[in-house]
Amino acid sequence: MNEPEPAEMNEFDVHDAIGESEHRADYRAGFVAVVGRPNVGKSTLINALLGQKISIVSPKPQTTRNRLLGILTREDAQLIFLDTPGIHLPLHKLGEVMVETAAATLPDADALLWVVDATGAPNDEDRKVAGIIAQARTRPPLIIALNKLDRLSEGSDTADRRRQEYSALAPHGEVALISAVRGDGLPELADRLSSLMPLSPPLFPQDQVTDQQVRFMAGELVREQVLLHLRDEVPHAVAVLVDEFSERANGMTYISAVVYVERPTQKMIILGKDGAMIKKIGQAARHQIEELLETRVFLELWVKVRPKWRTDEEELRRLGYPMPKKKRPRRRSTARNSSRA
Ligand code: GDP
Ligand code: MG
Repeated sequence: MNEPEPAEMNEFDVHDAIGESEHRADYRAGFVAVVGRPNVGKSTLINALLGQKISIVSPKPQTTRNRLLGILTREDAQLIFLDTPGIHLPLHKLGEVMVETAAATLPDADALLWVVDATGAPNDEDRKVAGIIAQARTRPPLIIALNKLDRLSEGSDTADRRRQEYSALAPHGEVALISAVRGDGLPELADRLSSLMPLSPPLFPQDQVTDQQVRFMAGELVREQVLLHLRDEVPHAVAVLVDEFSERANGMTYISAVVYVERPTQKMIILGKDGAMIKKIGQAARHQIEELLETRVFLELWVKVRPKWRTDEEELRRLGYPMPKKKRPRRRSTARNSSRA
């Protein structure tokens, strides 16, 4: 091969940024909104589909910051997954934000992927998700992924029963039988989703990850570990803000993050006896972040009490949760610019 001329080189760079020197005329690309109540295996599924290589892209930073987007770029299609934070009962403002976020994801998508846990019959939360799917203004094709099939005993008729139970909640959905952990049914699922995407060149460069997104993702991984370790004790009463994120000369990434809670009792729970719990949380989160960044990570966590943060919309916005836009009187105090507590 000859050295490319400078002009050609420019063109090559542009195509290369898209990750395909030339895309096929029948290339498909689009958005898949992943919905499902917590714990059904959405994150596991996305990670498995992407082969652990999550690329996080935030095309509209103001409105999508708490949706993690995983992008699967294949030879024939690009699937952009919108990973919703789960759909929760609107017990307080944060719950409402999450529900709105989840609901707002639906109309954008070219396909909906509803992940359910096949080890159990539909519960109230599943029915609520079904209700939101039914209420969506648009009705993209729906795939109901019956997950955790590895936990059903071979030859039992449970899978069939679950298929009927979940299908009944969303009759227009197609059922896919999968195990995100074992990988069963995932190639077929990716094929099917690809076929549902509109004809389009790839929408995103293949490996686009910005600092801002990685920072946010690191915070989300910390928050996830807090919730995983203390799901019952501190439901949603947690926000994580990454204060410092820097690469050190020794190839280490230094991350300092603050875990905000509402009450001193929650702070004590998160810290645990002699700091044992926060240590566990930190270790687990550090592992996850190291996998994401593929570098060694030094993670420092602080726990701070910030009463009522959940009901303070401005605070929520500052912490990265998209809030519905509302006209409100401007009452900016001049002290606002001073450094944070
Ligand atoms: P999310 O809240 O919907 O994102 O669910 P997660 O991906 O965090 O998964 C919740 C739990 O279910 C984790 O402990 C996973 O390891 C587990 N899980 C997810 N998929 C499967 C699966 O296919 N089989 C089994 N046995 N467990 C799974
Ligand atoms: Mg998840």
